Amino acid sequence: MRSTLLVATACAFMTSLMPSALAQQSRGAETPAQAETVPDPVKILVDRLDLERYKATIKGLTQFGDRRQGTDRNRRAIDWIETQLKSYGCANIERLKYDYQPPNPDTRSTMANAAGGPGTPTPPTATSVGGGRPRGLRVRTGINNDPSAQSDPKLRALNSQPSAPGAREEIYCTKVGGTHPDEMYILSAHMDGIGWGEAANDDGSGTALVMELARVLNSPDVQTERSIRFIFWNNEETGLNGSAAYVEQRKDLQGKETPPGSGKYPEPKWLGMIQHDMMLFDHGMPREDGTMSKEQRPEADVNIEFQLNSKFASQSQTLAWTFEQADEKYATDYPARVGSHMTNTDSNPFMNEVAAISVRENERGTEIGNGWDPQWHQPTDVYATYNDKDFRLGLNAAQTTLAATAQLAGVTVRKTNSSAQ
Ligand SMILES: [Zn+2]
Repeated sequence: MRSTLLVATACAFMTSLMPSALAQQSRGAETPAQAETVPDPVKILVDRLDLERYKATIKGLTQFGDRRQGTDRNRRAIDWIETQLKSYGCANIERLKYDYQPPNPDTRSTMANAAGGPGTPTPPTATSVGGGRPRGLRVRTGINNDPSAQSDPKLRALNSQPSAPGAREEIYCTKVGGTHPDEMYILSAHMDGIGWGEAANDDGSGTALVMELARVLNSPDVQTERSIRFIFWNNEETGLNGSAAYVEQRKDLQGKETPPGSGKYPEPKWLGMIQHDMMLFDHGMPREDGTMSKEQRPEADVNIEFQLNSKFASQSQTLAWTFEQADEKYATDYPARVGSHMTNTDSNPFMNEVAAISVRENERGTEIGNGWDPQWHQPTDVYATYNDKDFRLGLNAAQTTLAATAQLAGVTVRKTNSSAQ
C-alpha cells in the first residue's frame, strides 16, 4: 500500500515537471498493452546509433588534421562532410558564405603552449568565464601553436599550411518537416579545430555526433512534423565568427515563405538551438602533480548548459531539462547534468534570439576552464588518445540529443521491412 502511494505521488510530481511531449511519452509507457502494439519511434531511432559508426565518423574527420579555418585542409573537410550528408539522404545542402579578417595581430595564433604544470588550488573568490564558480585543483590551459610540439611528422606536415584571411564557407542541410516546414530545431557543431593535432575531440566528436543524427533522422522511413537543420560551423576557434555570421545573415528571414505560395521556407522559424562541442573526455579534476586519471571516470556525465544571463534563459532552461529527461529515458550508460553557465560556444550568438543550449563532456567554464581536458587545443587531441569508454560518452550524448529532438520535432517511423520489429 505504502509503496504504491509513494510511486503514484512520484509519478504525479514528475509529470508536472515534464514538458508535454515527454509527459505523453511516459503516460504511453504506463500502458503495457499499448506499448507492445505501438513501438516507440524514438527508441527505434536511438537503436540505430552505433558506437563503431560514431568512431568511424570521427576517424574520417581526423584525416584532415586540425581542420584549421582558412586552409585547404579545412575546405577539404567541408567537401568530405558534404559527401557524407548526401549519402545519408540529407537533401537541401547549402553553404553560408562570409568573410573572415583576423584581428591584428591574431592573438590566438601567437599564444604559446601554456598547458601543464602542477595542480594548484582554485582561489575561493574565482569566477569562471560564463559566470560559474570553479572549485578544487586547476592547471593552466592554452592553445598550442608550436609545430615542433607535434611529434608525428606526418601530422606536422598535414597541419603546416597557415590560415589565410578571406572568404569562408560553412555547410548545412535540412530535414523538412511534414506538417510544419516553417519551424525548425538546429543541431550543430563546429568542424574547424586548432592546435596541431587531429581535433578529434574538439570538435570531431561533436561534428560526428551531428553527422550521425543527420544519418538517422534522414532515413527514408523517418518523418518529422517540424524541420531539423544540421549545421557545421566554421571559425569557432577564432571567436564564434561562423555562427555569428549565420545569425546576422539569416535571423530576419525566419518563417518567411519564399517565394510566396511555394510552401518553401528557406529559414524556418527557430524553435531551439543545440550545440555540441567536445563530447568524449570526462576523466575528472587534475591531481596535485598536474596529471589526470587515464580512464573515463565511472561517474562521467553529459553536461547540458544554458546561460542564465540571456534573454531566453527561461526557455533555454526548459529545453535543457527536456534533454536531461531524454537522457534518463534513452541514454545507455551515462547520466546528464544541467548547468546555468553556457559560454564560449556557437550557441551563444543565438541565446538572445531563441532557446539555446550546449552539450559537452564537462562544463566549459568551471571544469574545462580549470584544465579538466589536457588535450584541449593541444597536439595530443588525436583519435588514438581516446578509448571506447571515451567514445561511449559521446555516443550517450548522441542518444540524448536524438531522443529529445525526435520528441520535440514530432517523429514517426513508417513501417517497412527494415524498421518493423
Ligand atoms: Zn570546440
